[in-house]
Amino acid sequence: MNMSQDKPVAIITGGGTGIGAACSRILSRDGFRVGINYIDPVEEQSRQVLSELEDGFLLKADLSNPDEIETMIAEIREKARRVDVLVNGAGISINKDINSMTLDDFDLQRAIVRGSWYLTKRILRLFMLRKNSGRIINISSVVGHTGNSGQIPYTMEKAALDAFTKSLCKELAGRNILVNSVAPGFIDTPMTQNLPDEVKSRILGSIPLGRLGSPEEIADLVSFLACRASYISGTVIHVNGGLYGG
Ligand code: NAP
Repeated sequence: MNMSQDKPVAIITGGGTGIGAACSRILSRDGFRVGINYIDPVEEQSRQVLSELEDGFLLKADLSNPDEIETMIAEIREKARRVDVLVNGAGISINKDINSMTLDDFDLQRAIVRGSWYLTKRILRLFMLRKNSGRIINISSVVGHTGNSGQIPYTMEKAALDAFTKSLCKELAGRNILVNSVAPGFIDTPMTQNLPDEVKSRILGSIPLGRLGSPEEIADLVSFLACRASYISGTVIHVNGGLYGG
């Protein structure tokens, strides 16, 4: 018998870089087989993260493309046959003011929340295969609550993700599937490393703890929600060094 078929399975979108990679590593340590979803530009990093895990597999799929999500669902069925945890961690942030932002930029940004919704919808049946329980964790953002200049579609997408968390919690509570958002503040990942120095120092000055967070500080909470929390659902938990309390 293949023992790995009996291990709980966690699927992590954007699981090969930044916060997603930290979630892949910590959930592997927690005993999950981890399915790392990624897209082309980060294939090498994703393979590297996979090589560090005890047990896992890669799932290449662009979440903006429903056909690729369908292929990913078929691959999960073949490689894992069950899903216990879904972390919707993939994201992009297009940084332009309202005058420079185009409809195409807006659609590109919106495609991520649409893809997260569609993946969640399609993966739910796999949650049901073995038992009525599961955990869905959406990685949103502090800026979905505070707003941010130059990131209007991004902040709209993250606010929508938190609304998704709250509504889905109500739809799935009867099946013992708990749904929560983790809302990071400013975290040291490729997404923030690419910001201009002047923006980075402005951000640092605004954080009461005086530093960026680490991806592991987000992953620790994801681990808690995935493994230990049993009476938390439909909520947004902020992790931001004192920047915003909700
Ligand atoms: P990151 O390393 O850029 O992670 C995002 C990942 O999502 C990347 O691997 C990215 O691939 C992938 N991705 C983008 N579009 C995708 C698509 N259509 N289909 C599948 N995967 C896609 O940055 P991060 O900081 O760890 O971000 C992780 C999550 O945390 C994101 O949802 C982000 O919005 C959120 N967050 C981050 C911060 C922060 O300060 N870093 C703060 C609040 C919230 P590519 O690199 O190829 O695009």
